[in-house]
Amino acid sequence: NAEIAMYQAKQTGKNNIQLYTDGLDETIRDRFIMESKLNRAIENDEFSLHYQPKIDLATDSVMGMEALLRWHNPELGFIPPDKFIPLSEDSGLILPIGEWVMKRALSDTAKLHKEGFADLKIAINLSLRQFMKKGLVEFVEKSIETAGLNNRNVEFEITENIFTEDLSTISRIMNEISNLNIKFAIDDFGTGYSSIGYLKKMPISTLKIDRSYISKIDSDTDSESIVSSVILMSKSLGLNVVAEGAETESQVNMLKDMGCSIVQGYYYGKPMPYDEFLEFVRNWK
Ligand code: C2E
Ligand code: MG
Ligand code: MG
Ligand code: MG
Repeated sequence: NAEIAMYQAKQTGKNNIQLYTDGLDETIRDRFIMESKLNRAIENDEFSLHYQPKIDLATDSVMGMEALLRWHNPELGFIPPDKFIPLSEDSGLILPIGEWVMKRALSDTAKLHKEGFADLKIAINLSLRQFMKKGLVEFVEKSIETAGLNNRNVEFEITENIFTEDLSTISRIMNEISNLNIKFAIDDFGTGYSSIGYLKKMPISTLKIDRSYISKIDSDTDSESIVSSVILMSKSLGLNVVAEGAETESQVNMLKDMGCSIVQGYYYGKPMPYDEFLEFVRNWK
């Protein structure tokens, strides 16, 4: 990318070279600063988890929540996960960070269960690198046991990019985890490398339709058709389907009409800290 930018800068004239390289330096410097701060974020207790409710449309109940990582650094402020997660994947830091997320999400879920909300299911995002790490299955099993949870209340969200790896390895790991009664959801469905075949071959229980389709469901007929086809396909394959990123009543009504089973989006609730989430489930009608 740096080479391309330099090339383009050269093409557009001498003055631009300075401008472009300045820009590049800054990006590299930003990355470097962020990465060095990210290195100490766990020990400095800069991470927290937010929980976003998932609503079961058939029963009008909160069936579970997704754990979403937040990073606040005293000097950099709040950094969105779309910035620091890719960085931590490149550096390998996602491995200790992912273990921190897993332990915290599971223990918070155990707390919610003790508060009387024993049916809540926790969904945890797993990046490719975490998925491929040796010992994942043992770590997961031990962490769930330590938290005192039932495996059935735990789900992992993975993206389709996982299927670009060696399929026999992927399938083996997925089956080992699935045999423990832990479920898999395909996150951001419709944005990656999809093959309908995997949906049947791999132990997948849920498709999460990407927000980019849901946000246009009531304004763009292509998005509307795509969402309704994915819902129909999911049903005939026996999969659950979650619509992610529903923000308006009109979107939710359309999803209900299409037979969507679960909705997660700002319309029902934004991701929130544990205490707020506990209030949210307490106040749910
Ligand atoms: P994701 O797993 O697809 O999570 C859903 C994202 O959509 C979240 O963004 C959530 O805040 C946002 N969202 C949900 N409903 C709405 C809505 O109605 N409107 C809008 N505008 N946005 C909505 P967030 O929290 O910024 O996370 C971004 C991504 O970062 C996640 O996408 C996931 O890929 C990654 N991520 C977050 N936490 C973790 C983690 O603990 N581990 C890993 N590996 N990745 C994580
Ligand atoms: Mg997710
Ligand atoms: Mg998603
Ligand atoms: Mg995403």
